[in-house]
Amino acid sequence: MTAYNLTDKLQKTNYLEKDEFISLLNALDSDSEQYLFLTARKETDKVYGRTIFIRGLCEISNYCKNNCYYCGIRRGNRDVIRYRLTPGQIMESCRAGYNLGFRTFVLQGGEDEFFTDSVLCDIISNLKQEYSDCAVTLSLGERSRESYEKLKKAGADRYLLRHETADKCHYQLLHPSSLSFENRLRCLKDLKELGFQTGCGFMVGSPYQTVENIASDLVFIRDFRPHMVGIGPFIPHRRTPFASFPAGDVSLTLRLLSIVRLINPKILLPSTTALNSIDPDGRTKGILAGANVLMPNLSPENVRGNYTLYDNKAYTACESAQQLETLGMQLKNIGFDIHTGRGDYIGD
Ligand code: SAH
Repeated sequence: MTAYNLTDKLQKTNYLEKDEFISLLNALDSDSEQYLFLTARKETDKVYGRTIFIRGLCEISNYCKNNCYYCGIRRGNRDVIRYRLTPGQIMESCRAGYNLGFRTFVLQGGEDEFFTDSVLCDIISNLKQEYSDCAVTLSLGERSRESYEKLKKAGADRYLLRHETADKCHYQLLHPSSLSFENRLRCLKDLKELGFQTGCGFMVGSPYQTVENIASDLVFIRDFRPHMVGIGPFIPHRRTPFASFPAGDVSLTLRLLSIVRLINPKILLPSTTALNSIDPDGRTKGILAGANVLMPNLSPENVRGNYTLYDNKAYTACESAQQLETLGMQLKNIGFDIHTGRGDYIGD
């Protein structure tokens, strides 16, 4: 089958076999990718129209107990200037975001043991009390089921935890032996069972990744049925073991955004910071390929430069009304509007 046929089949059935994902990825070229992007965008429009959800991203800490080979804030990187926001600073960032119109706050960070269940539960319940019309999303890595349950009870609505790769061998090439593929999947399963709107995802072009690995990621997404998927190119960080690997490919990232959109037309799919970091038009290209979420940065300006997962990270800073307006104009130019609501997942 051609890339066109496979795109049509995926659009009609939201389903391809693993072999067919591989065939599609191998068959795509610069003509058929345009067809894929358009098909994915049309499906997005049918569900969400021309609106883009915005999430205020607050990077609460760059301390991390883990040593992932790809990540710039890994424990072993002594060059990082470590910071941790106080609960007060986190509230302050969200308050500023609220006043600008954000109705989802994403608290992301390294696995920092300062943020115990009780510290986090206090922050979450304060946020939910003060901003009852907002959603709270967490992206704080692997925790126990009991911990996730407490966070949920405190009021957290969503959780982002990229699976990173759906292939166990590949997982082990990206992580030290203290981290396991099984535990990553256990976390995702727990999160979904506990009622979080759950996001998984992976890097495109991570070291040693094969087309077959990517097909496994697509099968995983097809079968796990996450509510959100984060996909961005791998970008090397000079102070990691993967410093000399090449960055992931923009075009392949866009193709994968479209394919994920066609697997689930309702999925919440961000056009990621990493994509915008390696291509100045990455943000709009992602939207035109079927993304419908943007996550501008609400972290205080003095720490923002230290949350360096990879080199040359771009910032969609949005701590001022003017910056948000600029973003709105950029979207307007390609025919889209910012949606000012919680932007929950609308399927079941
Ligand atoms: N500690 C949290 C948050 C991690 S940062 C967690 O474990 O979920 C969010 C994501 O950034 C990671 O899941 C990873 O996919 C991505 N990331 C890390 N290093 C990267 C790099 N060098 N290039 C591109 N993306 C990277």
